[in-house]
Amino acid sequence: MDLPVPVTLIAIGILILIAAFFSAAETALTAASRVAIHQLEREGVAKATVVKRLRARKEQFIAAILFGNNLVNILASALTTEVMVQFFPGAGVLYATAILTVVLIVFGEVLPKTYAIQHANRVSLSVAPSIEFFTKATGPIITAIQAVVGLTLRIFGQHATEQDQISATQQLRGAIELSAAESGGAPAPCSTRSSNCRTSPSAKSWSTAAT
Ligand SMILES: [Mg+2]
Repeated sequence: MDLPVPVTLIAIGILILIAAFFSAAETALTAASRVAIHQLEREGVAKATVVKRLRARKEQFIAAILFGNNLVNILASALTTEVMVQFFPGAGVLYATAILTVVLIVFGEVLPKTYAIQHANRVSLSVAPSIEFFTKATGPIITAIQAVVGLTLRIFGQHATEQDQISATQQLRGAIELSAAESGGAPAPCSTRSSNCRTSPSAKSWSTAAT
């Protein structure tokens, strides 16, 4: 592309912002509390319904986000290379790679994800409508990607639809034991009567209740 350098630089900046948006969305939509989102939906927050809808088909929105994120990252790196090669004909590719790797990791990944994990519920609500739109818009591409993924997994004897075989009860018990351990109660799931196996009364009754 024969764009003036300042225009290209602005385009690279915008692409990095979009990359940051996708990274934040990925983390927030994955990490948002199920309980909080459910409660917000009950209180009539329309965007909470969108978050729920997206999470009901998790593979879809994650594939869409990864597609979008990679698209902008690759475009940004191509444009950066084009600019750097003009100024440093010998080492342009090397400089572009070095600069963009650092910039994308810091501003396109770590920073937005750190923010998103700290404000997962709020961020998930604000990104949900645009991510839902993007997921719908890229639907056919995502279907093609998933077909390739499914086919590849089948070649290796796996099934893309297979879920973790851990039940809700097991997860609940794990959460209770973890919280008890963190608050100084049971240090680990207590199956033996060893001397360091302390189960707090509340954790014990909860474990029993969750069985
Ligand atoms: Mg990302």
